[in-house]
Amino acid sequence: MDLNKDVKYIKGVGPNRVLLLNKLGIHTLKDLITYYPRKYQDRSKPQDLIDCENGEEALIEVVPVSRMAEIRLRGKTMYKLQVRDETASASAIWFNQSYLKTQFKVGEKYKLYGKIKNVGGKITITSPVFDSSEKQNNTGRIIPIYPLTYKLSQNTIRRIVENALKEVKNNLPETLPDYLIEEYKLQDINEATAKIHMPTDFIDIEEARRRLVFEELLSVQLALLELKNNYMNELKGIQFDKKAHMSDIINLLPFKLTKAQLRVLEEIDNNMESDKPMNRLLQGDVGSGKTVVAMCAAYKAVKSGYQAAIMAPTAILATQHLENFKKYFGELGIRCELLISGIPKWQKDSILQDLERGDIDIIIGTHALIEDNVQFQKLGLVVTDEQHRFGVRQRAKIVEKGENPDVLIMTATPIPRTLGLILYGDMDISIIDELPPNRKEIDTFAVTKSKTERINNFVKEQLKEGRQAYIVCPLVEESEESDLKSVEELYKKYKKETFKEYTVEYLHGKMKTKDKDEIMQRFKEGKIDVLLSTTVIEVGVDVPNANIMVIEDAQRFGLAQLHQLRGRVGRGEYKSYCILRYEGNGKEIRERMKVMCDTNDGFAISEKDLELRGTGDFFGTMQHGLPEFKIANLFQDITILKSVQSVAIKIISEDPKLEKEENIKLKYLIKDKFKNVFSI
Ligand code: ADP
Ligand code: MG
Repeated sequence: MDLNKDVKYIKGVGPNRVLLLNKLGIHTLKDLITYYPRKYQDRSKPQDLIDCENGEEALIEVVPVSRMAEIRLRGKTMYKLQVRDETASASAIWFNQSYLKTQFKVGEKYKLYGKIKNVGGKITITSPVFDSSEKQNNTGRIIPIYPLTYKLSQNTIRRIVENALKEVKNNLPETLPDYLIEEYKLQDINEATAKIHMPTDFIDIEEARRRLVFEELLSVQLALLELKNNYMNELKGIQFDKKAHMSDIINLLPFKLTKAQLRVLEEIDNNMESDKPMNRLLQGDVGSGKTVVAMCAAYKAVKSGYQAAIMAPTAILATQHLENFKKYFGELGIRCELLISGIPKWQKDSILQDLERGDIDIIIGTHALIEDNVQFQKLGLVVTDEQHRFGVRQRAKIVEKGENPDVLIMTATPIPRTLGLILYGDMDISIIDELPPNRKEIDTFAVTKSKTERINNFVKEQLKEGRQAYIVCPLVEESEESDLKSVEELYKKYKKETFKEYTVEYLHGKMKTKDKDEIMQRFKEGKIDVLLSTTVIEVGVDVPNANIMVIEDAQRFGLAQLHQLRGRVGRGEYKSYCILRYEGNGKEIRERMKVMCDTNDGFAISEKDLELRGTGDFFGTMQHGLPEFKIANLFQDITILKSVQSVAIKIISEDPKLEKEENIKLKYLIKDKFKNVFSI
């Protein structure tokens, strides 16, 4: 049996279907048997009609009581069959399928599976699939539902997969070492493959999934760790000058670095002086002082004769970084420039020229930096400030502009360790887990709607004192349009009534970047008192005069996200407040609000978030860079992920190159899966 056999040789796959399968990314026998179902429908046991609930999908066993009626509607034909079982009667309806006229005989038994409508006891089943008592194509068992089928019907793809399974029947070579299968009581590859597609009960599915998820997560985790340990070690990186002391710039700072900053800088300094390229993730809460760290690293690069590039997710953040950098680098004769898409062409051209000539030491910008015409004379350090905005590919694009430059990735999202290992497992991780001492705690209050009046008055008092406020609008989940509507409505209300003495503006994801930046800039300059927005306002923007953050419908946000939103205040000398307006009285909601009021520690919050609601909320704040899995789902599979990680760490520490006899299978597994990604 050849797993790389073209799908065209599988029974039931003609030239048309080959094309359709190819569209789904299925080219080989192996692709087919690893095209896993998205969900399952239990079509094994019929339900009594009387028990069928409105909206559920159900299997019923019924007899037609009359002939199929053909009803012409505008533009389509409806076929309607009156049926009954012992408990009730119902109508089954289909549209435009004239062949159905001859399929049913009055008085015989049929199984129908479909969506039930039950309105006041009047039961309808719409477009059901069905079997007569002689055949069992569509019912009688648990049916897998495949994710995308394009123009192939579920029936067709199911039959093709079943044919493929017949070909491999029990002959798949095991991909996991015996010791893992034994220790974790995993199904073997053949059993798992058969059962994931053709389960007999739901326990089958769970066990088959557990095995396949384990394998998938393990291969990704091992690959990342191996990449970090071996591949990166073999690359020749830049050895920055030991005599370029970061302390030169540290001594210029008007404050003392925190212990955490110093520790992280030492880690970075060591990386930079070694001849291996640095590949490091720097995690630190908003306001923990990551920018200064980037500055010190950039200083060392420049003093060693290299250029540094700092990439930020938005123009406004890039501009803010530039201001910060210039404050210190100006007097050191180090030239920093800004490259964003908004600047005039002549200016851009001259910056590009100077950059290529090496006259610019530090370039700060947005993804304008990754464009092809941006060239460096000697790029040595790349820093990206990510609010999870840059995909891996974008990052790679700027890295390629140098020769194995050192890379520092900064993120303000506190990532629980488990997720960090799978998302950034190929990197070293540094954490700033301490805020500068002068930071004022943000007081957080959770209030219900009944306190609206009091809260508004409180906000007004602060505005009267000259402060500014952010108000984050309720999330409307259906679409960006409805989000926009809800912002606009609230905006009208606040502008015309609640805060009519003040300047109120709003921001929304659908606005042009230029308009967003302009409003943000005016807010920064104090020309706007109250800024309404959806969650688009950048977490890193510094507006020291803004000291109030009101979050509407706070119960709808994940904790990690609430924490990020809160981080926009408390950046100046004023006492700051975060007000969480929430609805609902569930235990979980109250617990979540309490966590927010009790702690300002981003890591504690994200761990709690993971515990309370799973990864769903966590990823709500992330947009890119998630690995694509065939079967694993970080949202549900955290428990498996945890055991996989301890195994992976143990394996790699004992056998870094996976050369031991017992790990040979793992080596092949990774090679096969990641052959296109990197060359292990
Ligand atoms: P982050 O990027 O981590 O959100 P920043 O680097 O922007 O945080 O720092 C926030 C503010 O704190 C800046 O104004 C910065 O100058 C200041 N800062 C950084 N480190 C310290 C420190 N050790 N002591 C006092 N202030 C600091
Ligand atoms: Mg920052």
